[in-house]
Amino acid sequence: MTASNLGSMNSEDIASTEGAEDIASAGGAEDIEAVGGAKAVEGVEVFEVEVPERAHFPFICLIHYHEVGLKGKNRSSFESRLKKNIEKNLADIDGVRVSRMSGRLLASVKSWDEACEVAEIAAHVPGVVRVSCGVRTAQRLEDVYEAACQTLERCEPYQSFKVDARRANTNFPIDSMRLNQLIGAWLHERLSKKLIKMKEPDVKLHVEMVEGSALIYAHTRKAVGGLPVGSAGSVVCLLSAGLDSPVAAWRMMKRGATVTALHFSGRPETGADSEYLVQEIIEVLSPLAGIERLCIVAFGSYQRLIADAVPPELRVIFYRRLMFAVANRVAQRFGARALVTGESLGQVASQTLDNIRATDAVASYPVLRPLIGTDKQEIIDEAQRLKTFEISSQSHEDCCTLFMPRHPETHAKLPHVETISATLPIETWLTQIMESLEVSDLS
Ligand code: ATP
Ligand code: MG
Repeated sequence: MTASNLGSMNSEDIASTEGAEDIASAGGAEDIEAVGGAKAVEGVEVFEVEVPERAHFPFICLIHYHEVGLKGKNRSSFESRLKKNIEKNLADIDGVRVSRMSGRLLASVKSWDEACEVAEIAAHVPGVVRVSCGVRTAQRLEDVYEAACQTLERCEPYQSFKVDARRANTNFPIDSMRLNQLIGAWLHERLSKKLIKMKEPDVKLHVEMVEGSALIYAHTRKAVGGLPVGSAGSVVCLLSAGLDSPVAAWRMMKRGATVTALHFSGRPETGADSEYLVQEIIEVLSPLAGIERLCIVAFGSYQRLIADAVPPELRVIFYRRLMFAVANRVAQRFGARALVTGESLGQVASQTLDNIRATDAVASYPVLRPLIGTDKQEIIDEAQRLKTFEISSQSHEDCCTLFMPRHPETHAKLPHVETISATLPIETWLTQIMESLEVSDLS
């Protein structure tokens, strides 16, 4: 097909393909005149081009990230980390290559289906804000026209479309507005049943002239966002087999932290059920490449010792203070910078402001609570999306339910708690716990 007699568009709405006259008037007679002759774009053969029908173009998945705050050295390490994390997630797909391209990552793939598969995986990797599937061509208009047609075909059924063409720099001689006009007009002629619509089209066809290639795509979707795991230092997350803490761990990973998971098992007072569930939770979260290691503490005997030594209403506070003190040591051992819990204000007795203060007092690292202002239902929704919900919903014996008092204190007084604490051999317990810590390296 020969791309001649092209109309021209400007940025007004064009409501119907019958509106060829509209198009002409929108672009102006002179423009149409110009489109008919090579003088429109100096030095480039843009018209009367032989368009290679049914040519095959290499498929791509474009992986977009936010550039906000990414300057200088930051940007390069951010990109390398994101690239590494994505490659790790794509390891099971043979032959996919990921390279950097002008503020994006580009995965070269073998087929359309593979592009969609890569997009689906990349969309869940923290740091990725958007993924797009399409094709890559040389920067020749004839190829761009045909690839644009093929790309729109893949969007069927649709009624209306709009072209959004850009060039990354002036190496390509046709500016963005002119590109929009040329591609739009050519498609208008070729796809006479489709509407070109500037506002709210069914399909937005992107054409980007970047680093010697044209990238053409219309399939694009939102991804998880956040920052690449590994770009924000490491934390110790107190991970139970409950609903909340896996969501808290995920939120920290989404903001770029790597996580040491610390689990307190009721062993030897209970079985190891909660440990198996925590391992399953970690398996679900591990494709995100964020959980570096799992540490397990057999905590049941210490709970028994505490239950025997402190007033019943304060047991939970003392269990939790010992947990936090252990987490603090674990953070020291592995170079983490903060502790993380899945607490949410007022959710249970131990999560009142007074009790939070009484437990935080033993930690020298900041204690981060990404869910503190989140309702249970919101947490459940997020756990369902993450696929940890079903694991966490399984009933299990757990240290949390061991030796629970009937009426736990909801407003512990720190000085009172500290007076009792001074009578307990906490240092000895901590030394024993750290010596018998069960560590599995997951990186
Ligand atoms: P989750 O809050 O994860 O659903 P939960 O509801 O069983 O667990 P809570 O009493 O709400 O436990 O505990 C508050 C927080 O304390 C948890 O989010 C978690 O960070 C930490 N935590 C509680 N139990 C454990 C445990 N057995 N091992 C590690 N951390 C725990
Ligand atoms: Mg909870």
